[in-house]
Amino acid sequence: MRVDVLTLFPEAFAGPLDVSIIKRAREDGLLDLQVHDIREHAADRHRSVDDYPFGGGQGMVMRVDVLDRALEHVRSLDREQGLVVLLTPAGERLSDAAVRELAGQKRLILVCGRYEGVDERFAEHCVDREISIGDYVLTGGELPAMVLIDAVARHLPGVLGDEASPEEESFAHGLLEHPQYTRPAEYRGWAVPEVLLSGHHANVEKWKQEQRLRRTKERRPDLLMDGDLRNREGEGTS
Ligand code: SAM
Repeated sequence: MRVDVLTLFPEAFAGPLDVSIIKRAREDGLLDLQVHDIREHAADRHRSVDDYPFGGGQGMVMRVDVLDRALEHVRSLDREQGLVVLLTPAGERLSDAAVRELAGQKRLILVCGRYEGVDERFAEHCVDREISIGDYVLTGGELPAMVLIDAVARHLPGVLGDEASPEEESFAHGLLEHPQYTRPAEYRGWAVPEVLLSGHHANVEKWKQEQRLRRTKERRPDLLMDGDLRNREGEGTS
């Protein structure tokens, strides 16, 4: 997958996406990440990218003309049109389902806002999807873009090595993951659940499913829809 990022702070992307699994995905050519500086498309001698909001109000707004030129330039760098995603707290909230959909694209173009955000005409005419990473406001779209890239990259074939891995994790089946343990089996009197040491595969699976349900009910009841819950309870106790 090719991912282009438009940002006023390209340097922000050095670090988090240069380590571990994402680093390997980039080295192996599974993820082609290209970061572009929006300011290069400013036209005036001050290289301004923002201006005061019409109608008054606090802060500055990123200009539609600069953003449009930057996007047109980036689009032209590859034959694949790409899905244009604007990171904004006013967008749909990022979910596991959305991540999986985005992972099916050949190319993503991510636009990071700053200041008070972008001129609405850019969102309206140039953007395919507006995405928020949660109900809070950050200073810029760079961290949200990195969150999205990391989450999407895990779903690209070959990135995790073990193809089935994303299916074992939280949200894959609408549930949180069961608790995990490793050696030592006892530490400071804190014991690992007996069933996990039993070697009885069916009992272990049953325990894991019960734990997924219990945790989800306790911590994220919103994930459980009535009908689905009945089915899953059936699975967990059969
Ligand atoms: N004035 C905007 C509002 O109230 O919705 C907030 C602008 S925020 C200070 C600046 C930029 O950070 C946004 O344009 C967006 O790109 C990014 N941003 C902040 N919080 C975000 C979130 N929760 N999800 C995605 N992007 C976010």
